[in-house]
Amino acid sequence: MGRQYYCEFCEKSFADNPSSRKNHLNGTQHKNNRKNHYNSFKDPDERLQEERRKRPCKNFPRGMCDFGDNCRYSHLTEADFAQLEQQVLQRRHHNTGPPPSLEDWLSKRDKRIQSESPSIKPDLTLPVYTMPSNLMHIPNLPPSVLPPPPDIFNNLKYEEWG
Ligand SMILES: [Zn+2]
Ligand SMILES: [Zn+2]
Repeated sequence: MGRQYYCEFCEKSFADNPSSRKNHLNGTQHKNNRKNHYNSFKDPDERLQEERRKRPCKNFPRGMCDFGDNCRYSHLTEADFAQLEQQVLQRRHHNTGPPPSLEDWLSKRDKRIQSESPSIKPDLTLPVYTMPSNLMHIPNLPPSVLPPPPDIFNNLKYEEWG
């Protein structure tokens, strides 16, 4: 089996050679898929206005428009327009009020950073060891019996057990 070219727009793979790649990339179906892909990232408001400015393509509904995304007429159906309008309305609904000013954004960001920073360093409550009083009088205790130095936990590496 030769090399395969996978087109992410069409979710399709085919033999990877210059001619089939060229054929595919120039195909109407690919161009449409590509256009739809990028349109999905476009501001629906902007897109709606753009499409409304165009006149409907007479050939596209009959499957006879060869221009694809280069067509200067609109390829959107009534249903497409309705869907787009719905998207625009939904977005307006979400973005109520004026956009925040830079100062607002910065102060919010500072607050967020401040509130996040404690969680970056986990607040460990270190165990406090005390010597049992009856051991304190015994000289030269073995190190394993002595309480650990208080800073010994600060540089511990944690192992992930999995
Ligand atoms: Zn494709
Ligand atoms: Zn057209």
